[in-house]
Amino acid sequence: MVHPRHVYVHVPFCGRRCAYCDFAIAVRRTVPTQEYADALSRELALRFPDGEWEADTLYLGGGTPSRLGGAGVSLVLNVLRRRISLSADAEVTIEANPDDVTPEAVEGWRRAGVNRLSIGSQSFDDRVLSWMHRTHDSASIERAVNTARAEGIENVSLDLIFALPEGMERSWESDLTQALALAPSHLSLYGLTIEPKTPLGRWHDRGEVVSSPDEQYESEFLFAHEGMSRAGFEHYEVSNFALPGRQSRHNAAYWSGVSYAGLGPSAHEFDGRCRRWNVPAYAAWLERLATGADPLEGSEHLTADNRVAEEIYLGLRTTGGLTLTGVEIARVAGWVEAGWAVLEHESRLTLTPSGWLRLDALAADLTLIRSRY
Ligand code: SF4
Repeated sequence: MVHPRHVYVHVPFCGRRCAYCDFAIAVRRTVPTQEYADALSRELALRFPDGEWEADTLYLGGGTPSRLGGAGVSLVLNVLRRRISLSADAEVTIEANPDDVTPEAVEGWRRAGVNRLSIGSQSFDDRVLSWMHRTHDSASIERAVNTARAEGIENVSLDLIFALPEGMERSWESDLTQALALAPSHLSLYGLTIEPKTPLGRWHDRGEVVSSPDEQYESEFLFAHEGMSRAGFEHYEVSNFALPGRQSRHNAAYWSGVSYAGLGPSAHEFDGRCRRWNVPAYAAWLERLATGADPLEGSEHLTADNRVAEEIYLGLRTTGGLTLTGVEIARVAGWVEAGWAVLEHESRLTLTPSGWLRLDALAADLTLIRSRY
């Protein structure tokens, strides 16, 4: 068995559910750190019984992994290190809510080996944060960034959400300006989606919230691209911007189609041919592992057609682009002419930001062509 060089660990705990969130989370006032770490240890031993291996990236995502605190993250990393050693320049990321980023926590994270912080800021407008049911306010974002730096974690990414519902009167420009003023090395920008079975989905069903029009999504996406590019960031993937050398190596692994391990409730894993995912509920994940059972919920072997579709979709998402063949090159001529794509060295296609807004259509078209030839 070839062990993956990239490891994702899902930490499901949150203080409360945000209005738009449909992730697999466990709302807990007190985080059951030891219980979680013990179950994680059992999953690792059960699913990766043969020896130790080295990883280049480790990503603690959630949920809110920062709720583990300094000691909790240290415990979890010690569990992982029984099987997984980290390479000398490994990227070790933790997702954090601003209000969890205290000097004690950051010191614990840094000592445990964390060297990258992804802070869920979402907006700098307190009215918007309260509407989103976030647990933090705007001032705590700046405090979190300063604390991270003061305690020795320089590599900080911020998340923001755009395309908020009509009527919110949120200033996207102001949020971007305030994010840039904190000098992050990376930004992830996500358009709000209204998911069913969330508070936001229910507000929408009752007519209390009207989703943003496509034009707003497009104009905010393109506005961010312009502003971030002027500030020296590379828009290297549809939703991600980085200063030179600060791209997320972990996420880049997902987009390049290499294998990765996934541990914890709802975690997905890919071994190069087969994708598998764990049961999403924390209680079910615990129960399976307590009885020595694999917490697997489902799996799928990628067919040749699946692989083609994935290669095209992932290639078009990043500035790495996609190499085209003769008939495909002819097919994208209109895209190049419209300014939605650029063809380099006669066969390497990358999408422009305007093209990314139409990515699904081109991916479907190229997949159809490639499956025929
Ligand atoms: S903090 Fe993140 S994972 Fe937790 S409820 Fe909010 S959006 Fe979902």
